[in-house]
Amino acid sequence: MRKSIILFLLLLLLLFVIFPRTGMYGFLFDRGKYEYMDESSIEIISDLDELSPKTRELAIKFLEKCGENGLSVRITETYRTQARQDMLYKQGRTTSGSIVTWTRNSKHTKRRAFDICEDNTDEPYGDLEFFRKCAEIGKEVGLTPGYYFKNYQDMPHYELNRWWLQ
Ligand SMILES: [Zn+2]
Repeated sequence: MRKSIILFLLLLLLLFVIFPRTGMYGFLFDRGKYEYMDESSIEIISDLDELSPKTRELAIKFLEKCGENGLSVRITETYRTQARQDMLYKQGRTTSGSIVTWTRNSKHTKRRAFDICEDNTDEPYGDLEFFRKCAEIGKEVGLTPGYYFKNYQDMPHYELNRWWLQ
């Protein structure tokens, strides 16, 4: 009986030695941190299929209408992991760079927002008239454009703000 307990403890110790980070130890004590450190969790995702069905549907409608109006739109980001949102939130606050987001609680992490810029140009964020026209179209199709945000204008940003739609 005592022998098997000692054997068990030795085995446990071995696990901690062999897998100090990725094994049991990492799993039990460091999981959140390692999820956060995972490079792939802070990658930019710009695939429309990563959006909620309704957001995706309206995004496609929006792109079509923009195209019809001669506005060349590129989707720069859709779904955002919480790890990436947290990283962006830290930027300009606890890490270097300028502030790029005002919230840790973004519609991007809920698959209900996407960002755009102008395509085929040297200055994808330079043409304010482009963003104004796009915002009009976004509103028309039922999205909430960040262009109209009162406290913190976010020109590239579009979100679905109708909670009853998925
Ligand atoms: Zn955005």
